[in-house]
Amino acid sequence: MSRTIFLDIDGVLNSREYLISLPKPEGLIVEANIEHHIDPVRVERLNKIGGAIVISSTWRLFHSHVEIGAMLERRGLRSRSLVLGATPDLGNRGDEITHWVSRRKLDRFVVLDDTDDGLKQFGRRFIHVRDGLEDAHVERAIELLRRRP
Ligand SMILES: [Mg+2]
Repeated sequence: MSRTIFLDIDGVLNSREYLISLPKPEGLIVEANIEHHIDPVRVERLNKIGGAIVISSTWRLFHSHVEIGAMLERRGLRSRSLVLGATPDLGNRGDEITHWVSRRKLDRFVVLDDTDDGLKQFGRRFIHVRDGLEDAHVERAIELLRRRP
């Protein structure tokens, strides 16, 4: 699979407004409800891009990519099997993605993230999402994945 989406979750599959709208859990069950931080509206937009998904979010440090795939599917992802893996933990998101890209010689990929942690090196392939995935980001991602660099 050559079309790959490096996926951050917080700030991409949710927005500040969405997180504020969630009912506040009582006690210390925030972690158990983490899946609810994924906004189905954003997941539906992600579905429109199409491609294999590699998790670059810090969520991967607490959950396997298989678990995250299942969460995403329950929040509307078309298939959990689209989630191929997660980037290694190297301390810098740019290095982590480069590690994955170079090993597999990917030529068609996009990076969806709301922070720039060494991601500018990817040029146009870094789609800087500000506060939740929007249709304009989806259109750019589709266009970038369509053609070779
Ligand atoms: Mg983020």
